[in-house]
Amino acid sequence: PSPLLEVKDLKVHFPIKSGFFGRNTNVVKAIDGVNFHIFENETFGLVGESGCGKSTTGKAILRLINSTDGEILFQGKEISKLPHKEMRPIYRDIQLIFQDPYASLNPRKTAGDLIEEPMIVNTDFSPEQRKRRVHELLEVVGLSAYHASRYPHEFSGGQRQRIGIAKALSLNPKLIIADEAVSALDVSIQSQVLNLLRQLQRDFGLTYLFISHDLSVVKHISDRIGVMYLGKMVEQGSKKSLYENPLHPYTQALFSAAPCINHDKKRERIVLKGDLPNPINPPKGCPFHPRCFVKMAECETVTPELRYAGDGHYVACHLYK
Ligand code: SF4
Ligand code: MG
Repeated sequence: PSPLLEVKDLKVHFPIKSGFFGRNTNVVKAIDGVNFHIFENETFGLVGESGCGKSTTGKAILRLINSTDGEILFQGKEISKLPHKEMRPIYRDIQLIFQDPYASLNPRKTAGDLIEEPMIVNTDFSPEQRKRRVHELLEVVGLSAYHASRYPHEFSGGQRQRIGIAKALSLNPKLIIADEAVSALDVSIQSQVLNLLRQLQRDFGLTYLFISHDLSVVKHISDRIGVMYLGKMVEQGSKKSLYENPLHPYTQALFSAAPCINHDKKRERIVLKGDLPNPINPPKGCPFHPRCFVKMAECETVTPELRYAGDGHYVACHLYK
């Protein structure tokens, strides 16, 4: 099958002023050559520390940020350079669920208004049809028609995220980009919302790009996972192959800190030295080399490419050639 979404060598670079009176201009490489694809009905998890470029990747796909280079193919069609007018049908097909349900919902609008909004602009439904659809959507996300006249502050965090999901579903999208969609919720509510998302995926044939810094969340929901570090994809593979056999030293460290799937297989905790380097002045060679515990001489000068390592598994590290 051909992928629903393909991201090829995507780059987002932007200039920033620094130094005395902002006299110097530096280029931040927020994303510096990211590659991945997502098949229909699949959940692709994008994981990494805050500032690694995963949100920027999601925003670039939705054209909320302009990419500097590379390609974004949606259903085989290049969309990264389309005029915004021609993006309209694509904006229906790709929807975003935000991090903080509180911040993303207008407090002066009822849940019904919020869910209805995208339909006013993008469909020719009559007011009655829209109202019926709002009630339908509320039920689909586990709320009820009664909630249509309530305001965001009257809902719990989990309920607000359900409203956000209903709104995202209102135009029958194909792809949903969820950026830290459950990160603001309590753990017990998180799993309810994740289960809802999986149910909706089955019922409506949805495809997810699931972005999170939280490995346990990504593990719960993803079929395949990509690991990002300093604007680059450093490893990618099926959930199983990544968890059972993480290849990149960064992935090994990241996964060693997260609870194991099968507890019989004990994993030694790898603690990384140092902080995430400054993206304005990233390290030469492998971006991970200042923190890598198996670094070799060439790692300081040669940047490793993302290469196929068998079994649907890709890695960017000189240890694997
Ligand atoms: Fe470590 Fe070198 Fe691999 Fe980078 S390329 S992760 S520095 S071994
Ligand atoms: Mg983010």
